[in-house]
Parts: sequence; C-alpha cells; structure tokens
Amino acid sequence: MPSLKPVRGTQDILPEEHRQYQRVEETALHVAERYGYGEITTPIFEFTDVFARTLGDTSDIVTKEMYTFEDRGGESITLRPEGTAGVARAFISNGLQQNLPLKFFYRGPMFRYERPQKGRRRQFRQVGAELLGVAKPLGDIEIIALAAQILNELGLSGKVKLELNSLGDTASRSVYRDRLVTYLENHRDSLSKESLERLAKNPLRILDSKDEGDQAIVAGAPLLQDSLNDDSREFFNQLKDGLNKLGVAFEHNLKLVRGLDYYCHTAFEFTTEHLGAQSAVLAGGRYDGLIGQMGGPATPGTGWAAGVERLALLLEEKKESKRSIAVIPVGGEAESEALVIAERLRTKGYTVDLAYSGNLKKRMKRANNVNACAAILLGDDELTRNVGTVRDMDSGDQKEVSLESLEDHLADYR
Ligand code: ATP
Ligand code: MG
Repeated sequence: MPSLKPVRGTQDILPEEHRQYQRVEETALHVAERYGYGEITTPIFEFTDVFARTLGDTSDIVTKEMYTFEDRGGESITLRPEGTAGVARAFISNGLQQNLPLKFFYRGPMFRYERPQKGRRRQFRQVGAELLGVAKPLGDIEIIALAAQILNELGLSGKVKLELNSLGDTASRSVYRDRLVTYLENHRDSLSKESLERLAKNPLRILDSKDEGDQAIVAGAPLLQDSLNDDSREFFNQLKDGLNKLGVAFEHNLKLVRGLDYYCHTAFEFTTEHLGAQSAVLAGGRYDGLIGQMGGPATPGTGWAAGVERLALLLEEKKESKRSIAVIPVGGEAESEALVIAERLRTKGYTVDLAYSGNLKKRMKRANNVNACAAILLGDDELTRNVGTVRDMDSGDQKEVSLESLEDHLADYR
C-alpha cells in the first residue's frame, strides 16, 4: 500500500482554497496586464546550473533548499525554487534582446526544502514580474508601483508596509563590503558559525542574520548608505521621489539586503505583521548583473515575486463560488428531460447543478447546500404541459414558466 499522506510540506488544494488562490493570481495578472506585462511560463524544472550558478553558492536556496535529482539520462535537474533565473534563461535561450525592454509576468509552483509552517511550504505558489532592459530608476518605480497596485486591489494596503533600501552600484558595494568585513573581522569570535562561513563568501548576508548574537554585532556595523557613491545616491533619490509622486508609501530600512552578487541599487520587501514569522509577502530588487553572469548579453533587470499562499491568508473577503441554478427532476420521465435542460442552460452560460438522485426533499436540500440561487422543478405532469417551476431560493417565491422561455425568466440569475 502506498503512503496516503502527501509529502511533508505539500498539500492538496481543494476548491474552496483554490478560489482564493485564483483571486490572488488573477488580480495580479490583470493588474500586470494593465501595466503592459505579458505572461510567461518557463519549465518547472531546469538544469541545476541555471539556479546554482545564478543564485550564488552561498544563498540559502542553493545550499539548503533545492530539490535536485539526476534524471534517467544522468542530467542534474532541479525543481525551480524561484522564477527569475528561469525567466533570465528564457530571455537568453529565445534570443529576445532585440525586443527590449521586456515585461514579463509569471505564476506557478515553486519548490524549496524548508521546515513547513503556516505560510511556508515545500511546494508553494508565486506570482512575479520582471522588467528587463530598463537601467533607470523609472523601471524600479514602475515595478514597485505595480506590486503596490496589486496589493491595493486585493484589499491588502492596510495590512502591508513597503520597506526599501539601496545596495548601491558595484563600486559602492565593494567599498562597503571591505568596510563591513574589516568591522566584522574585529568581532569574529562572537559571530555565529553560519555568519563566520558567510564572512568570506557573502558578508552582506550577515546583516540579515536571525541570530541574536549576530544582530548585536550588526547593530554597530557601518551602514551601507554611508558607502554609496554619488551615482548610487542619485539613483536612490530618484526612486524615492518617484514613489512619493505616485503616493506609494515606504520606509527606508537600512538593514534590508539581498544577498546575491548580481543585485544592485534597489532592494524592497512588502511585509506584514499578520502572519507571524512569515512576514514577507512580496520581495524584489534590481539585478543588473544577472543575465550577463549567466552568459547572456549584459541586460539590466528589476523585478519581484510574491507568495500566493501568504497573500491568500491575508485576504479579508473570501471569493465565493458562482451561485448555480439547481435543476431538480421529480419523477422518472423528468430525469432525462432535466439533463437536456441543464445542458441547454450551461451552453447559454449559466452555472447549473443537476440533482442526481433522491426524493424531492433531498434534492432541495442539495440545492441549498450548494447555495443555488434558483431551482427549476420539473415534474412529470408539468412536462406534459411543457412547463416547469422556477423557485427563487432566497425569497422562496416560485412561478410556473414555459420551458421554451426558461432563459427569459432566468436572466437575473446568470
Ligand atoms: P522567507 O524570508 O520567508 O524565507 P524568502 O526571502 O526566501 O522569504 P523570496 O525568495 O524573496 O522569499 O520569495 C518571494 C516570496 O515568496 C516571499 O516573500 C514569500 O511570500 C514567498 N515564499 C518564499 N518561500 C516560501 C515558502 N517556502 N512557502 C510559501 N511562500 C514562500
Ligand atoms: Mg526563504
């Protein structure tokens, strides 16, 4: 017998939950389309290098979270842990550089080997947006405005806040990196084991260490913003001005970083206090170095990804299923006629639930359970007169109508 439990960190998504995910994903897609983004779908698995090379070999994702396996042909394959690397790969493989700037929206499952908890799964869903080919802060302003607008249309503006920081350009980053390492070297003995490992490879990541000892040291560390050169400052100022002009509120979080080398300038995160430890709902930044580093033409990029489950958990108004019309045959003859009528109405765009069995009482109960807005009762004797009874399930009012003109009487229930 197979184990009947789903694999840890995965789960079945039943219709009720699916509706909430649909609402999140469809809202995101529709808003993104208004901003000129087109949907792209890349494969759910890629050669491992696509992620290992781009995410950096010190990132949590690559060191601890990837689902990697050898396929039957001996290739190392990884289930995608995030969307940007695949989109960048697709941009290069499809030779799209003639078409810049490009705006992509994506949605779909991602896979990370993590400790499951509320809002954290091993298979989860993301929606995301990538803007390729815009080097100016205008690109970051637009991509953040898009994120804010999606959250707004999901009714979540009051539950999230935008945190923003600048990592500066490559030159500023390397100046800062040296200053930070010098500082941290002096506190080597008190750093956590994990941070010690990062000190050589990826010291910036120590800034967002969750370890309390590390945090105390980080509190006295030099600040990134003090190492920003004039160009980087100007970039950040333009970004902030643009957001202010659009009325997108933000907080400057001096400690917000994205650990990977190809990130520059903009880093941002929409966070919430309503999901416990899983506070980030949407995160992104500028990655001008990524596509070049993958072997493509140097191409600036900026984008973000959001967790669909986390956003769905925050939704206040749940999306209800569309109310149906229950077709209820009463008697043997009526049963086959009911099927024909149900089919006819569905073709015309109505949502129809057909009661399959049981006496009238049982079938009415089902109509109630599925929250039908109207019922069409078809009795054998009524059928001989070519009529049925339409019952409004909310008011209980009912009237006899001819079957030919059924649609006229149902117009309000579409
Ligand atoms: P966290 O700090 O929560 O681990 P992260 O920095 O790993 O997040 P990103 O890689 O920036 O997250 O992914 C963008 C978004 O995807 C997150 O803000 C979150 O909403 C969602 N997300 C990330 N990992 C998971 C997961 N394991 N389960 C559900 N949602 C997730
Ligand atoms: Mg994570």
